[in-house]
Amino acid sequence: MKRAVFPGSFDPITLGHVDIIKRALSLFDEVIIAIGVNADKKYMWSLEERKVFIEKTFAAEPQIQVKTYTGLTVDFCKTEKADYILRGLRNTTDFTYEQSIAQTNAAIAEIESIFMVATPAISNISSSIVRDVRRNGGDISGLVPLAVLKPL
Ligand code: ADP
Repeated sequence: MKRAVFPGSFDPITLGHVDIIKRALSLFDEVIIAIGVNADKKYMWSLEERKVFIEKTFAAEPQIQVKTYTGLTVDFCKTEKADYILRGLRNTTDFTYEQSIAQTNAAIAEIESIFMVATPAISNISSSIVRDVRRNGGDISGLVPLAVLKPL
């Protein structure tokens, strides 16, 4: 059973995340979308809202589970019996950041990181850009899945 954890803040989930997750379904039997909870971080959407957005987006997808976690991602992977961490790469900044984390995770926990390169047409989308557009009253409908546009 090939099980991957796709960790992130998902504040909110974007079409960039959706693309990576859908493409990963042909590589893994199961993908756990894992919302990391950091008590020191301020979020635009609550944990419950972020979780529901993802659950609604993938409601018809039996290979996908949505969970939340605190602490180290590798510890969460062990608990979930997942051998792989899935991450998306948009640019060299992402790569440089992810490289050291992946090397550390491999060293401390023998977890393999699998990277998928962003689809060019949506590699510009990030949760922080979505938050910025929304905060300033702009239209985010081309950046996020439908579930994010509807209040709970
Ligand atoms: P984090 O706060 O851990 O960076 P995010 O929710 O911002 O979490 O992102 C989770 C993962 O999704 C990261 O690996 C990130 O690189 C990837 N990702 C975000 N946006 C895109 C995109 N447009 N295309 C591909 N991957 C993306």
